[in-house]
Amino acid sequence: MSAATVRPPDAARVAGAVKVYGGGDTSVRALDEVSVGFPAGRFTAIMGPSGSGKSTLLHCAAGLDTLTSGAAFIGDTELGTLDDRRLTLLRRDRVGFVFQAFNLVPTLTVAENITLPMDLAGTRGDREWTDSLIDVVGLRDRLGHRPSELSGGQQQRVAVARALAGRPDVVFADEPTGNLDSRSGEEVLNLLGGAVRRMGRTVVMVTHDPVAAAHADEVVFLADGRLVDRMADPTADRVLDRIKVFDTGHTSAHPTDAHPVRGARP
Ligand code: ADP
Ligand code: MG
Repeated sequence: MSAATVRPPDAARVAGAVKVYGGGDTSVRALDEVSVGFPAGRFTAIMGPSGSGKSTLLHCAAGLDTLTSGAAFIGDTELGTLDDRRLTLLRRDRVGFVFQAFNLVPTLTVAENITLPMDLAGTRGDREWTDSLIDVVGLRDRLGHRPSELSGGQQQRVAVARALAGRPDVVFADEPTGNLDSRSGEEVLNLLGGAVRRMGRTVVMVTHDPVAAAHADEVVFLADGRLVDRMADPTADRVLDRIKVFDTGHTSAHPTDAHPVRGARP
Protein backbone atom coordinates (compact mmCIF):
# COMPACT_ATOMS: atom_id res chain seq x y z
CA MET A 1 0.00 0.00 0.00
CA SER A 2 1.58 3.32 -1.00
CA ALA A 3 1.72 6.23 1.42
CA ALA A 4 -0.66 8.12 -0.83
CA THR A 5 -3.34 5.43 -0.53
CA VAL A 6 -6.05 6.35 1.90
CA ARG A 7 -6.57 3.56 4.37
CA PRO A 8 -10.20 2.44 4.30
CA PRO A 9 -12.26 2.49 7.49
CA ASP A 10 -11.95 -0.57 9.70
CA ALA A 11 -14.60 -3.23 9.15
CA ALA A 12 -13.60 -4.62 12.54
CA ARG A 13 -11.18 -3.56 15.25
CA VAL A 14 -10.21 -4.06 18.85
CA ALA A 15 -8.91 -1.35 21.17
CA GLY A 16 -6.92 -2.10 24.32
CA ALA A 17 -8.12 -5.68 24.13
CA VAL A 18 -7.33 -7.78 27.18
CA LYS A 19 -8.46 -11.38 27.60
CA VAL A 20 -7.68 -13.28 30.78
CA TYR A 21 -8.69 -16.92 31.05
CA GLY A 22 -9.23 -18.36 34.52
CA GLY A 23 -8.27 -16.68 37.74
CA GLY A 24 -5.68 -16.62 40.49
CA ASP A 25 -2.35 -18.36 40.01
CA THR A 26 -3.52 -20.28 36.98
CA SER A 27 -4.87 -17.31 35.03
CA VAL A 28 -3.61 -16.82 31.47
CA ARG A 29 -3.39 -13.38 29.88
CA ALA A 30 -4.11 -14.43 26.29
CA LEU A 31 -4.48 -10.84 25.00
CA ASP A 32 -2.48 -8.07 26.61
CA GLU A 33 -3.62 -4.63 25.45
CA VAL A 34 -3.99 -5.36 21.75
CA SER A 35 -5.23 -2.57 19.50
CA VAL A 36 -5.58 -3.41 15.84
CA GLY A 37 -7.92 -2.58 12.98
CA PHE A 38 -8.92 -4.66 9.99
CA PRO A 39 -9.62 -2.35 7.04
CA ALA A 40 -12.74 -2.86 4.94
CA GLY A 41 -12.17 -4.49 1.59
CA ARG A 42 -8.77 -5.84 2.62
CA PHE A 43 -7.32 -9.25 3.41
CA THR A 44 -5.45 -9.28 6.74
CA ALA A 45 -3.48 -12.25 8.05
CA ILE A 46 -2.68 -12.79 11.73
CA MET A 47 0.48 -14.73 12.53
CA GLY A 48 2.35 -15.66 15.68
CA PRO A 49 3.63 -18.65 17.61
CA SER A 50 1.27 -21.24 19.03
CA GLY A 51 -0.39 -19.84 22.14
CA SER A 52 0.26 -16.20 21.17
CA GLY A 53 -3.45 -15.35 21.27
CA LYS A 54 -4.42 -15.52 17.58
CA SER A 55 -7.61 -17.56 18.03
CA THR A 56 -8.56 -15.54 21.09
CA LEU A 57 -8.19 -12.31 19.12
CA LEU A 58 -10.28 -13.68 16.26
CA HIS A 59 -13.02 -15.02 18.54
CA CYS A 60 -13.25 -11.78 20.52
CA ALA A 61 -13.22 -9.62 17.36
CA ALA A 62 -16.02 -11.75 15.88
CA GLY A 63 -18.20 -11.70 18.98
CA LEU A 64 -17.78 -15.44 19.61
CA ASP A 65 -16.11 -14.64 22.93
CA THR A 66 -15.97 -11.57 25.16
CA LEU A 67 -13.01 -9.44 26.23
CA THR A 68 -11.99 -9.06 29.87
CA SER A 69 -11.38 -5.38 29.19
CA GLY A 70 -11.04 -3.12 26.20
CA ALA A 71 -13.45 -2.96 23.30
CA ALA A 72 -14.23 -4.84 20.09
CA PHE A 73 -16.08 -3.23 17.20
CA ILE A 74 -17.75 -4.48 14.05
CA GLY A 75 -18.00 -1.28 12.06
CA ASP A 76 -19.20 1.29 14.59
CA THR A 77 -20.94 -1.26 16.79
CA GLU A 78 -19.18 -1.96 20.08
CA LEU A 79 -19.84 -5.62 20.83
CA GLY A 80 -19.65 -5.15 24.61
CA THR A 81 -22.73 -2.90 24.52
CA LEU A 82 -24.96 -5.56 22.96
CA ASP A 83 -27.23 -7.87 24.92
CA ASP A 84 -27.20 -11.58 24.05
CA ARG A 85 -29.97 -11.30 21.51
CA ARG A 86 -28.41 -8.42 19.61
CA LEU A 87 -25.01 -10.10 19.73
CA THR A 88 -26.53 -13.24 18.23
CA LEU A 89 -28.11 -11.17 15.47
CA LEU A 90 -24.82 -9.39 14.80
CA ARG A 91 -22.96 -12.69 14.54
CA ARG A 92 -25.60 -13.98 12.16
CA ASP A 93 -25.97 -10.93 9.95
CA ARG A 94 -22.60 -9.18 9.97
CA VAL A 95 -19.94 -11.83 10.58
CA GLY A 96 -18.89 -14.97 8.74
CA PHE A 97 -16.59 -17.57 10.28
CA VAL A 98 -14.47 -20.33 8.75
CA PHE A 99 -12.93 -22.83 11.16
CA GLN A 100 -9.97 -25.16 10.71
CA ALA A 101 -12.25 -28.18 11.19
CA PHE A 102 -14.84 -27.02 8.58
CA ASN A 103 -17.75 -27.28 11.09
CA LEU A 104 -20.40 -28.17 8.52
CA VAL A 105 -23.67 -29.76 9.63
CA PRO A 106 -23.22 -33.45 8.70
CA THR A 107 -26.92 -34.19 8.18
CA LEU A 108 -27.42 -31.32 5.71
CA THR A 109 -26.53 -31.26 2.04
CA VAL A 110 -23.99 -28.88 0.54
CA ALA A 111 -26.78 -26.57 -0.64
CA GLU A 112 -28.47 -26.62 2.77
CA ASN A 113 -25.19 -25.93 4.56
CA ILE A 114 -24.54 -22.89 2.37
CA THR A 115 -27.98 -21.36 2.94
CA LEU A 116 -28.16 -22.38 6.62
CA PRO A 117 -27.48 -18.87 7.99
CA MET A 118 -30.31 -17.45 5.88
CA ASP A 119 -32.63 -20.33 6.69
CA LEU A 120 -32.00 -19.82 10.41
CA ALA A 121 -32.72 -16.13 9.95
CA GLY A 122 -35.97 -17.00 8.16
CA THR A 123 -34.99 -14.92 5.15
CA ARG A 124 -34.61 -15.96 1.55
CA GLY A 125 -31.38 -14.00 1.38
CA ASP A 126 -30.05 -13.07 -2.01
CA ARG A 127 -30.51 -16.27 -3.98
CA GLU A 128 -28.71 -14.88 -7.02
CA TRP A 129 -25.67 -14.13 -4.88
CA THR A 130 -25.79 -17.58 -3.24
CA ASP A 131 -26.14 -19.17 -6.64
CA SER A 132 -23.11 -17.31 -7.96
CA LEU A 133 -21.13 -18.41 -4.89
CA ILE A 134 -21.84 -22.05 -5.73
CA ASP A 135 -20.05 -21.55 -9.04
CA VAL A 136 -17.25 -19.53 -7.46
CA VAL A 137 -16.48 -22.38 -5.06
CA GLY A 138 -16.95 -24.95 -7.85
CA LEU A 139 -19.55 -27.12 -6.09
CA ARG A 140 -22.45 -27.02 -8.53
CA ASP A 141 -22.23 -30.81 -9.10
CA ARG A 142 -22.02 -31.55 -5.35
CA LEU A 143 -25.05 -29.63 -4.10
CA GLY A 144 -26.98 -32.74 -3.00
CA HIS A 145 -23.98 -34.39 -1.29
CA ARG A 146 -23.43 -34.60 2.46
CA PRO A 147 -20.16 -33.24 3.91
CA SER A 148 -18.89 -36.79 4.58
CA GLU A 149 -19.02 -37.44 0.83
CA LEU A 150 -16.63 -34.57 0.12
CA SER A 151 -12.88 -34.14 0.38
CA GLY A 152 -11.51 -31.81 3.04
CA GLY A 153 -10.83 -29.15 0.44
CA GLN A 154 -14.39 -29.37 -0.89
CA GLN A 155 -15.79 -29.17 2.64
CA GLN A 156 -13.78 -26.05 3.35
CA ARG A 157 -15.00 -24.50 0.08
CA VAL A 158 -18.57 -25.12 1.31
CA ALA A 159 -17.64 -23.43 4.59
CA VAL A 160 -16.27 -20.42 2.69
CA ALA A 161 -19.46 -20.18 0.62
CA ARG A 162 -21.53 -20.41 3.81
CA ALA A 163 -19.45 -17.66 5.43
CA LEU A 164 -19.94 -15.38 2.39
CA ALA A 165 -23.61 -16.20 1.77
CA GLY A 166 -25.06 -13.52 4.03
CA ARG A 167 -22.67 -10.86 2.66
CA PRO A 168 -21.17 -10.26 6.11
CA ASP A 169 -19.11 -7.17 6.90
CA VAL A 170 -16.18 -9.42 7.82
CA VAL A 171 -15.23 -13.04 7.28
CA PHE A 172 -12.96 -14.38 10.02
CA ALA A 173 -11.03 -17.57 9.27
CA ASP A 174 -9.00 -19.46 11.90
CA GLU A 175 -6.30 -21.57 10.20
CA PRO A 176 -8.68 -22.42 7.33
CA THR A 177 -5.96 -24.36 5.51
CA GLY A 178 -4.61 -26.10 8.62
CA ASN A 179 -6.25 -29.44 7.79
CA LEU A 180 -5.71 -29.30 4.03
CA ASP A 181 -3.01 -30.44 1.63
CA SER A 182 -1.19 -27.57 -0.06
CA ARG A 183 -3.18 -27.79 -3.29
CA SER A 184 -6.60 -27.71 -1.56
CA GLY A 185 -5.26 -25.03 0.76
CA GLU A 186 -4.27 -22.92 -2.22
CA GLU A 187 -7.81 -23.20 -3.62
CA VAL A 188 -9.31 -22.02 -0.34
CA LEU A 189 -6.82 -19.14 -0.14
CA ASN A 190 -7.63 -18.11 -3.71
CA LEU A 191 -11.33 -18.11 -2.78
CA LEU A 192 -10.71 -15.91 0.25
CA GLY A 193 -8.43 -13.60 -1.76
CA GLY A 194 -10.98 -13.50 -4.58
CA ALA A 195 -13.75 -12.61 -2.13
CA VAL A 196 -11.69 -9.54 -1.20
CA ARG A 197 -10.40 -8.53 -4.63
CA ARG A 198 -13.35 -9.41 -6.83
CA MET A 199 -16.28 -9.16 -4.40
CA GLY A 200 -15.07 -6.34 -2.16
CA ARG A 201 -15.37 -8.43 1.00
CA THR A 202 -13.20 -8.12 4.14
CA VAL A 203 -11.26 -11.16 5.34
CA VAL A 204 -9.22 -11.67 8.52
CA MET A 205 -7.34 -14.97 8.62
CA VAL A 206 -5.18 -16.63 11.23
CA THR A 207 -2.43 -18.79 9.75
CA HIS A 208 0.96 -20.17 10.69
CA ASP A 209 1.92 -20.67 7.04
CA PRO A 210 3.99 -17.90 5.37
CA VAL A 211 2.73 -18.98 1.94
CA ALA A 212 -0.86 -18.54 3.13
CA ALA A 213 -0.04 -15.20 4.78
CA ALA A 214 1.42 -13.96 1.48
CA HIS A 215 -2.11 -14.03 0.03
CA ALA A 216 -3.04 -11.18 2.40
CA ASP A 217 -2.64 -7.43 1.89
CA GLU A 218 -1.14 -7.07 5.34
CA VAL A 219 0.15 -9.38 8.07
CA VAL A 220 -0.08 -8.54 11.76
CA PHE A 221 2.17 -10.44 14.13
CA LEU A 222 1.28 -11.44 17.68
CA ALA A 223 3.62 -12.70 20.38
CA ASP A 224 2.70 -13.36 24.00
CA GLY A 225 -0.70 -11.77 23.52
CA ARG A 226 0.71 -8.54 22.11
CA LEU A 227 0.81 -6.99 18.66
CA VAL A 228 4.51 -6.87 17.81
CA ASP A 229 4.71 -6.00 14.12
CA ARG A 230 2.80 -5.43 10.90
CA MET A 231 3.89 -6.04 7.32
CA ALA A 232 2.22 -4.60 4.22
CA ASP A 233 2.25 -6.44 0.89
CA PRO A 234 3.84 -9.57 2.37
CA THR A 235 5.76 -12.18 0.43
CA ALA A 236 6.29 -15.69 1.78
CA ASP A 237 10.05 -15.07 2.02
CA ARG A 238 9.70 -11.85 3.99
CA VAL A 239 7.14 -13.43 6.34
CA LEU A 240 9.42 -16.43 6.84
CA ASP A 241 12.33 -14.14 7.70
CA ARG A 242 10.16 -12.30 10.18
CA ILE A 243 8.88 -15.37 12.02
CA LYS A 244 12.35 -16.94 12.25
CA VAL A 245 12.86 -14.42 15.04
CA PHE A 246 10.05 -16.14 16.96
CA ASP A 247 11.23 -19.64 16.17
CA THR A 248 14.78 -19.08 17.36
CA GLY A 249 13.45 -17.74 20.63
CA HIS A 250 14.78 -14.22 20.18
CA THR A 251 11.58 -12.59 21.33
CA SER A 252 12.16 -10.65 24.51
CA ALA A 253 9.84 -10.62 27.49
CA HIS A 254 8.56 -7.35 26.03
CA PRO A 255 8.41 -8.00 22.32
CA THR A 256 7.11 -4.53 21.57
CA ASP A 257 10.46 -3.19 22.78
CA ALA A 258 12.45 -5.51 20.56
CA HIS A 259 10.20 -5.12 17.54
CA PRO A 260 8.47 -1.78 17.58
CA VAL A 261 5.21 -1.67 15.66
CA ARG A 262 6.08 -0.01 12.40
CA GLY A 263 3.79 1.81 10.04
CA ALA A 264 0.66 0.93 11.97
CA ARG A 265 -1.12 3.87 10.32
CA PRO A 266 0.29 5.06 6.99
P1 ADP B 1 -3.17 -19.36 19.36
O1 ADP B 1 -4.42 -19.40 18.58
O2 ADP B 1 -2.22 -18.26 18.95
O3 ADP B 1 -2.44 -20.68 19.39
P2 ADP B 1 -4.92 -19.07 21.67
O4 ADP B 1 -5.62 -17.78 21.47
O5 ADP B 1 -5.65 -20.33 21.37
O6 ADP B 1 -3.52 -19.01 20.89
O7 ADP B 1 -4.42 -19.16 23.18
C1 ADP B 1 -3.72 -18.09 23.82
C2 ADP B 1 -3.42 -18.50 25.25
O8 ADP B 1 -4.64 -18.62 25.98
C3 ADP B 1 -2.72 -19.83 25.39
O9 ADP B 1 -1.85 -19.77 26.48
C4 ADP B 1 -3.86 -20.79 25.66
O10 ADP B 1 -3.42 -21.91 26.38
C5 ADP B 1 -4.80 -19.94 26.48
N1 ADP B 1 -6.22 -20.33 26.30
C6 ADP B 1 -6.92 -20.32 25.14
N2 ADP B 1 -8.20 -20.68 25.35
C7 ADP B 1 -8.31 -20.93 26.68
C8 ADP B 1 -9.38 -21.36 27.52
N3 ADP B 1 -10.60 -21.57 27.03
N4 ADP B 1 -9.12 -21.50 28.84
C9 ADP B 1 -7.90 -21.26 29.35
N5 ADP B 1 -6.84 -20.86 28.61
C10 ADP B 1 -7.03 -20.70 27.29
MG1 MG C 1 -5.32 -20.90 17.46
